[in-house]
Amino acid sequence: MKTPYDILGVPKTASQDEIKKAYRKLAREFHPDRNPGDAAAEERFKEIQGAYDTVGDEEKRKKFDAGANGFQGFGSGGFGPGNFNPADVNLGDFGDLLGGLFGGRRAASQPRQRPQRGADLEVPVKLSFEDALRGIETKVAVEVDATCRTCHGSGAEPGTAPVLCPVCSGRGVLAESQGLFAISQPCPRCRGNGTIIETPCHTCHGTGIERRTRRFTVKIPAGVKTGTRIRLKGKGAPGEAGGPSGDLHVVTEVEPSKRFHRRGKDLVVDVPVTYPEAALGATVEVPTPEGGRVSLKVPAGAHDGKLLRLRGQGAPKLKGGGRDDLLARVKVAVPSKLSKKEREALEELRRASHDDPREELFD
Ligand SMILES: [Zn+2]
Ligand SMILES: [Zn+2]
Repeated sequence: MKTPYDILGVPKTASQDEIKKAYRKLAREFHPDRNPGDAAAEERFKEIQGAYDTVGDEEKRKKFDAGANGFQGFGSGGFGPGNFNPADVNLGDFGDLLGGLFGGRRAASQPRQRPQRGADLEVPVKLSFEDALRGIETKVAVEVDATCRTCHGSGAEPGTAPVLCPVCSGRGVLAESQGLFAISQPCPRCRGNGTIIETPCHTCHGTGIERRTRRFTVKIPAGVKTGTRIRLKGKGAPGEAGGPSGDLHVVTEVEPSKRFHRRGKDLVVDVPVTYPEAALGATVEVPTPEGGRVSLKVPAGAHDGKLLRLRGQGAPKLKGGGRDDLLARVKVAVPSKLSKKEREALEELRRASHDDPREELFD
């Protein structure tokens, strides 16, 4: 029985570097690209690859040296330079090659994929202006990829099981000739899993993943505005290979209010005042967003559009409690109908006005 050292033509005491050198030299020599149609060279090439697989890596070599237990996967072939038909390689080959001593099998259950966190998902939620200020508990529905319930994620029809990939013999990687040397890349047949599914699950068609609508209850805090994101940890897409799930971000979309509108943190409300109120100053009542009233002192000479700040009367703060500010915007209302008395008073006012407000237009 030839040991991997025999195959590579190095002593058992060879350094990793020596093993690597010997392997490169032999692999080049017997590479199927260099020996087209030469079955013996191909066999030899497989043998060399298998040997290097076993002792080329320090960890694996230790295992091998410690006992035949570590000698698994030896002889796994199927690394294919383009013209090498992967279908020609099957597990039987290894049996022949190894005299039936080794199974050539690598545990199919061995996870090859690295655990990956699931994707974050986003779902919009529409809210009335009032609900956005009050806060509300609502439901969101989101389509997520979930583990298939028929096959429990294996992708194989119940009663069947994934089988060892015939292309890479369960290694999950292929060595492909790239000019001087072979580089490893994921096996295209099994996409690096080492196993393939012969009878795909009828529900998920072998993907192991099922599209499912999931509903979550989400607590929208008081004071959200359009674009506020609420994170539901772990409610996003499921992770892969045992990785954690992603998060679900609920993004609020607040319907406009007839009365109030947002200006950053502040809420703005238009407050109509009469000309005399604006000119002389007045105390008026202003609606608050939660439906109350608050009194506001309009200073004498307030021009149209002036913003008056009412501290702590606006929308609830998202963080830290309390409220932000309400801005009252002075709207000088022009009456469309006048009583006789009003008309007389206004005409008197016009006669009394001494400044021409348009003077500066012509400076
Ligand atoms: Zn399934
Ligand atoms: Zn494969």
